[in-house]
Amino acid sequence: MNIPDEWKMDDAQWQALIFKVAELYNNLTIMRGFQYYKQKRVGPLLFSHRQTRHHNNAAIYDHTQNFTRDLTQAESNESGTITAEVQGTEAYTVVLYIEALSTSRCTCPVNTPCKHMAAVLMSYAEQQGRPVPALVNAHATTSLKQAAKSVVTASSGRAYSFDSTSDHGQSFEDKNAVDGRQYSEIREQAAALAGMSIPEWHELFRDSLRRLGTGTATTAYIQEASDELYAIKPKLPAAMEQLFELHVLLYLMRYCIPPARNSITNTPVYLSYPAQLAVDALQKRLEALLLQPLDCSGLQGVTLEQFWARLVETAGYLRTEMLTETANMMFFTPVYTKLWLNWIVTQPQGNSDLLETELATLDSIEQDAVQQAKEQELNGQRQVKKVILPLPLVLAQGWMHYHLKQDTAAWQKLVHGSTAYGIPPEQLLYFLHTLVDAAEWTRLAEWLVQLGPMLTNRRNTPLQDYMQLWDLTIQHVPEAEHRMWDTLVSMLPHSRPAYEEAMHSRGQWRRWIDFQLSTGTEPLEFRVAVLQPIEKEAPELLLPFYHQAVERYVGHKNRDGYKAAVKLLKRLSKIYKKLKHDEQWEHFITTLAVRNSRLRALQEELRKGKLIP
Ligand SMILES: [Zn+2]
Repeated sequence: MNIPDEWKMDDAQWQALIFKVAELYNNLTIMRGFQYYKQKRVGPLLFSHRQTRHHNNAAIYDHTQNFTRDLTQAESNESGTITAEVQGTEAYTVVLYIEALSTSRCTCPVNTPCKHMAAVLMSYAEQQGRPVPALVNAHATTSLKQAAKSVVTASSGRAYSFDSTSDHGQSFEDKNAVDGRQYSEIREQAAALAGMSIPEWHELFRDSLRRLGTGTATTAYIQEASDELYAIKPKLPAAMEQLFELHVLLYLMRYCIPPARNSITNTPVYLSYPAQLAVDALQKRLEALLLQPLDCSGLQGVTLEQFWARLVETAGYLRTEMLTETANMMFFTPVYTKLWLNWIVTQPQGNSDLLETELATLDSIEQDAVQQAKEQELNGQRQVKKVILPLPLVLAQGWMHYHLKQDTAAWQKLVHGSTAYGIPPEQLLYFLHTLVDAAEWTRLAEWLVQLGPMLTNRRNTPLQDYMQLWDLTIQHVPEAEHRMWDTLVSMLPHSRPAYEEAMHSRGQWRRWIDFQLSTGTEPLEFRVAVLQPIEKEAPELLLPFYHQAVERYVGHKNRDGYKAAVKLLKRLSKIYKKLKHDEQWEHFITTLAVRNSRLRALQEELRKGKLIP
């Protein structure tokens, strides 16, 4: 986002803002503000010009006191304002004095700090690249820090300091003082992390977090826990460092999500609101992490071997975690997919051998599931018509085939899906977008042909995204265009709006008219704007379309029908004129009038429309 330079916050100012928000806004206002923010009700932020940057910083944020004082009105005017419109019951205008928050204004009837202001603050935090959940949890964070502070002062620095500004070395000593030998053992163990298996990593994480006690899953807890885990991290090669971060995030995500359920029973996962925020933040970090390429520089010999062992174990860990996930609640499945896509197959070691091995593992999981279902049926426990495979399993098999360039096998997996509803459209589109990223246009055309009909398994799938992918493909592979038309036809009637739009936007008038004729559409149902370009560019194509409709309307033998017929006849007369076929028109209209001379109401309408004298 484009925040003016003089508006950039440093860490101290950000902390100060969190404290100020906790002080001024009650929890309910913050939650409502958050909803508004999430619903994108906040318009663009307008930043006033600021004279001095970090204007008397020390006075605003006092490290020893940990809270802020308000500036005088004169000072706040100088420190600048943020103005934004918020769409509430009506549009309200908010003016924030960022360094004198309590003097901020909103045009809504509430006279105290309101949800509109809170929403603007969150939008501001987002533009600053700061985590919005920190503002939402302002009360929890603040009381936690205050509590920690008082403990620290009371026991002369023996308790773990939550103060992020405190010196790291110091806090290690504090921890040692509390947990003594145990903690030093954990750190000693952690030094050998690279040689330990992934389950051992997670065990070590669990042990080192014991010191925090059982915290509820919140953004604040996750932050503390993450700091704690990083405190035991030894120096690692770059790629191993990336893997360490991945596991810190995965471990904490597992912590926030209730234990695995059976995917067959489809028990929905319930996350408390704070846990949901924490998971959102973790997912964002996971996504960002996996977008960074692996930095394998400096890995060789033993370190390289160790790294690959850990990476393969990671894939195994994710496989186990994801198998119980359902379509609506996928946390580990996307991580598994991205791990393979961005970190494994991009490396020389991520070759077909490794992919085949993974595929074999997945296939044996499938066989076990099928076997189990059959046994249940034999025992008469339940009737099994079709074995329902976990969606993450089917997707993973699809991706392995994809990476192995076994496209036909991938489509087969996807077509059979895991339930009667088929694969969720966003999962199918993920394959297609991956092909776009890889610029594999010819292959993409084939995937578009195959996956198109699968998208119609679900009602109301928006096809815009799918059609844009066709546009892109045809730009690169023009000869694929006829495949698009065939595919769209095979997807009818579901694809009708997309099909019509494609024909229209490509000026495929003959195809468009033929389609309307074959489906018996009424010309009067179209907006004028739809027919205009055709009347201009290919008027002759409209003749059969209009003539057929006129016949139908007259056949209704009622006033409304005649009126509709006259409306179209007027358009027809214009087209004949445009084509310079005036004589033919005269012949036609006269014949029509004569043939229907006994329909007096029609005669009236024709005269009213000045089509006959
Ligand atoms: Zn307001």
